[in-house]
Amino acid sequence: MIVANNPALKSWVAVPENSDFSIQNLPFGIFKTAGLTPRVGVRIGESVLDLKTLFVLGYLENLPFELSDFDCEYLNPMMKKGKLAVRQLRNRISKLLDTNFTDLQKNQHHVDQVLLDVNNVEMCMPVQIGDYTDFYSSKEHATNVGIMFRDPANALLPNWLWIPVGYHGRASSVILSGQDIHRPKGQIKPNDNEDPIFSPSRQVDFELEMGFITFDGKPLGDSISTSEADDYIFGLCLFNDWSARDIQKWEYVPLGPFLAKNFASSMSAWIVTLDALQPYAVETPNQEPKVLSYLEFEGKKSFDINLQVAIQPENTAETVISNSNFKYMYWNMAQQLAHHTVNGCNIRTGDLMGSGTISGPTEDSYGSMLELCWKGTKPLKMNDGTERRFILDGDTVIMRGYCEANGVRIGFGEVKAKLLAAK
Ligand code: CA
Repeated sequence: MIVANNPALKSWVAVPENSDFSIQNLPFGIFKTAGLTPRVGVRIGESVLDLKTLFVLGYLENLPFELSDFDCEYLNPMMKKGKLAVRQLRNRISKLLDTNFTDLQKNQHHVDQVLLDVNNVEMCMPVQIGDYTDFYSSKEHATNVGIMFRDPANALLPNWLWIPVGYHGRASSVILSGQDIHRPKGQIKPNDNEDPIFSPSRQVDFELEMGFITFDGKPLGDSISTSEADDYIFGLCLFNDWSARDIQKWEYVPLGPFLAKNFASSMSAWIVTLDALQPYAVETPNQEPKVLSYLEFEGKKSFDINLQVAIQPENTAETVISNSNFKYMYWNMAQQLAHHTVNGCNIRTGDLMGSGTISGPTEDSYGSMLELCWKGTKPLKMNDGTERRFILDGDTVIMRGYCEANGVRIGFGEVKAKLLAAK
């Protein structure tokens, strides 16, 4: 077991009950304040640990890191040091925050310098994303979309059960939680029998996804196997892959999504390490037909992460509209990474891989408005009495995720963004 994952650990730093940020989590992010330049931080409870200052004060000695790894506006230099280095770092931080160790705890002068109230910091984009790939790995989601847009009798395309289907997305428009977005404009075709028009999208949707961030991979030409995949995954975040369904429907043939998907994708601020998630690993759903050999895997490669989506209309309380779980994904991350690199494609530190929309088996666990409202035919009732078929201007979409087992909860906080009117 990774020592930082020990469920018996308690911290001398206050952690509220039901907090996502117990001592067993210790996710990484980038923060700044009015007086502090952007730097690496670790979240615990309602506090943020400043790793730059912690390093300067000598608490991170005998680890394979230098000051510039933490005195940085992205996590990339720290991630460059690789899986084992980051594991050692997280174990050291765990020890410094452990109630049984007094090195930091006893030195209030240092504690005052390295522990900040989360309400007094501004979170920044955590990762400089090189490439962004989005998969399409939920069987329920792919089936629902197939039924709505193509043929109920053949909802899954013939390749779907053989290939972790994906496409190359765009990194420039991946944004941090809290940044508002504008309704996209583009070509839509309101009537099948008429020519397309140029218009603000009328069907802006969210996609409930998880993203994973990679370490450096292998040289171009080499592949990463499913058994090696964990060594190349730094951690996970919540991910809302905003989508414009009307633009998507008209443009996606034959090369797949383009402008319907690249206007914005929102990610949560704290990256939860794959290490921290190990206690929540579960079996992947049964795969039939049997996958090709390079996609075979051993052990528990899926994760039990409870996921929730809420819509908050302007000036009123939110309404929870979906409860799903990451464990429903048909293809796991190890298979996605093995498939991504099987042709020799290289991955780099800070690549982002989206899971694809995570829909569960029931109507209240779907991961998009498209499915929840079944192409607009079944509007959702909000707590304020209004209805939604898609996202309206002024709506804030909020996603949350957490794991719980052995009396320990770790989570991702939230990813949220408000949709503003078209520019
Ligand atoms: Ca997507």
